[in-house]
Amino acid sequence: MPGYARVAVTLPVCSTFHYKIPRRLAALALPGARCIVEFGGRAVAGFIIALDKVADVDEARVKELREVLDPVPCLAPDLLELAHWLSTYYHNPLGETLLTMLPPSERAVKSVAYEAVSPETSTATPPATPAQKKIDPLQAELLAEIAQKGQLPAARLKGKRARALEALLKRGLVKRIWNVAPRAKPRPLRWALLKEGAPSPAELGGNATKLAELLKLVGEGPKSVTELRAEAISSDTLKRAVERGWLELTEETVAPASVKSLGFGGGEDLTPTPEQAHCLKLVEDALESENFEPILLRGVTGSGKSEIYLRAVCDTLDRGRSAIVLVPEISLTPQLIGRFGAKLGTKLSVLHSGLSQRERGLQWAALKNGDARVVIGTRSAVFAPVSELGLIVVDEEHDGGYKQEEGLRYNAKHAALMRARGAGAVVLMGSATPELESYALAKEGRYRLVELPKRVGGALPPEIRLVDLRPEESRMRRDVLITTELSRAIDGALERGEQALLFLNRRGLSPAVYCPTCREPLRCPSCSVAMTLHGSRARGRLLCHYCARSSAAPSSCPVCGDEGLVELGAGTQKLEVELKSRWPKAKVARLDRDVAGATGGSEVLGAFARGEADILVGTQMVTKGHHFPRLTVVGVVSADDALHMPDFRAAERTFQTLVQVAGRAGRAERPGKVFIQTRNPHHPVLEAVVEADYEKFAQLELTERESAGYPPYRRVALVRVSSENRSESQRAAQTLARWFMDMGSTLSVEVLGPAPAPLEKLRGRYRHHFLLRAPGNAPGPLRQLLAHFIENGPKQGRNIKLSIDVDPVNLL
Ligand code: ADP
Ligand code: ZN
Repeated sequence: MPGYARVAVTLPVCSTFHYKIPRRLAALALPGARCIVEFGGRAVAGFIIALDKVADVDEARVKELREVLDPVPCLAPDLLELAHWLSTYYHNPLGETLLTMLPPSERAVKSVAYEAVSPETSTATPPATPAQKKIDPLQAELLAEIAQKGQLPAARLKGKRARALEALLKRGLVKRIWNVAPRAKPRPLRWALLKEGAPSPAELGGNATKLAELLKLVGEGPKSVTELRAEAISSDTLKRAVERGWLELTEETVAPASVKSLGFGGGEDLTPTPEQAHCLKLVEDALESENFEPILLRGVTGSGKSEIYLRAVCDTLDRGRSAIVLVPEISLTPQLIGRFGAKLGTKLSVLHSGLSQRERGLQWAALKNGDARVVIGTRSAVFAPVSELGLIVVDEEHDGGYKQEEGLRYNAKHAALMRARGAGAVVLMGSATPELESYALAKEGRYRLVELPKRVGGALPPEIRLVDLRPEESRMRRDVLITTELSRAIDGALERGEQALLFLNRRGLSPAVYCPTCREPLRCPSCSVAMTLHGSRARGRLLCHYCARSSAAPSSCPVCGDEGLVELGAGTQKLEVELKSRWPKAKVARLDRDVAGATGGSEVLGAFARGEADILVGTQMVTKGHHFPRLTVVGVVSADDALHMPDFRAAERTFQTLVQVAGRAGRAERPGKVFIQTRNPHHPVLEAVVEADYEKFAQLELTERESAGYPPYRRVALVRVSSENRSESQRAAQTLARWFMDMGSTLSVEVLGPAPAPLEKLRGRYRHHFLLRAPGNAPGPLRQLLAHFIENGPKQGRNIKLSIDVDPVNLL
């Protein structure tokens, strides 16, 4: 019988430790279960990761497990195995890694309580000593309460009472105990569903705005009553809609399919194109043989990728296996979710950030007990507790959102590949512009490559034109937001009753306010960036886009008092104002983080798709998801900023974004035109965009990467240090870089840097970094070097924060 549990504590420590399993916990102490152990004199939560017969240290020194918190292990063996890989690859402590894999609702210690210490075991000071006399009234009150009830739940202790209890604890008069709360049975949620025959929001009169808003929200898909409350829909409004027979309320633990979403069509009657059929055959064969099969699906927007996802998921379900569908952002993929919802009904679980902790917990439980067998969600859905995994879809696989930028800095795509490898599952990675790393692997034959070169139904690709900003700017002697050429195209679209979309990846009115005397923009005091002006000059606010610090916009420079402050550049707000003044009769809508709200802007996108606005201006948020049948003109206000970011992926990101924006145009029968404004009209990356030639771009950029020594040819990791003190940060970076240079030389790992980060100061901390570069693209040398660093590297001072980012995505 295994007498010892190996435990990973949820603290930043890398080793794991043995604890003796007391008889009372023998049935509960299983790998994957959470537990409470004593560590460094404190009670901490941990995960049991294995059971062993012999302890690896002197038996007498091994402590006992205090408590097991899960009646059934909360992580299955495949997820435990994935945790091991994540922890080793990203150099993140195992206990913390395991914690990251759980939804917040499952992370908390279930219940801790306090009990009186019985006199015979008490080590407390004997009564009648001066100490005993010093029990204050509050402490006495607590003791009396414990004596009366037997226990005092810790959850109810706050402030003074908590401090009084700490004192009692210190004096040994009470002790902590851990109760395993019986896992709450998932209480069903109430969902609002649109009924057949409900009016469209537009049909309702002007004085029924709340009802219209409700119908609009529910029209996008089923909403839980909690979600609706968060959107300020009162229960009264809800009641009225139900009384009129427009809505019904159902109770289910997972989102039901809505009547309206059936409109998206399940795809039953479509005959797959030869490319789709080829891809589905690969999936089918792999599912049949239970082989790990990574497939890269390169297909322009509208080429039928989603249709493949849906059919592959159904095939997986038919074989009794489950599927995970990863998307970069839930709110921007309503149509995909609608299609899945219509087809799968309650077998589908949707995980998104709008869910409350309780709702998330319910979805997690539904997946765990098999009620839901398919999950759509953002990166953490890769850890969904499904069993018999058969398929993981990674939609828009190039998206930077799959990388987590704090704590466990994992890439969900890589996690998906590792999990699928363990499960003998298929990974379908789809994109119009695959990440170059993926593309190179596909070319090497490590992934299957399936290409869908044409739009289904023969919709023509849009015509893309580069518009040189320079001639017009030198004639006008100022920056130009909308060139004559773009302006004429918008005129034409509006005359024909079509729509235009303008993309500008900067929110706010002006990205900087400049003082001509100081020759400096007004900067955020905590970050080394210019503050963005929002609203208007007269009644606006300055906002830091990195730390969210904000202040009223000053009428004069706070440093020198110059009143001649100048707004530099334009953000989406300024563009919106300009569009409204140029086309006063057109309806202009805007979408960026400032207006998106809790639903991530799906209302604005939905309204635009229904034709409720003529021109939409927006940031990155407008480039994804939605299908706009009447959109024929797309304008990119400037392609240049993105090209010049200090990052080896700048060209790739620019290409991806521009292709994605361009893909918005002319998806239905009307042809689309795309205008890309730039001051570099001969830039090879932009030329590749115009030719819509991914292959050409990939070859160009891969050659560049190879000669510069970047991924996918070399593997890199970024080491970042920060401190409130600039020279302290700099010194720490130098010391560390020297250590890595010495230790890395035998492994041929190079150190590039150290240097101040491009964003040198962020939230009041100065940041320095350096890049570790392996001799090739094998993971071994970096893993070995970093593991050695974690064990034996120089220790950092208290004020230094250090982070290691393997396969970094963000180099700022
Ligand atoms: P993507 O995900 O690549 O943008 P979709 O799967 O959304 O492409 O397909 C674009 C459009 O073409 C959708 O309206 C879809 O219903 C339709 N479609 C996809 N596959 C087929 C097919 N084999 N036959 C007919 N129509 C199809
Ligand atoms: Zn700031």
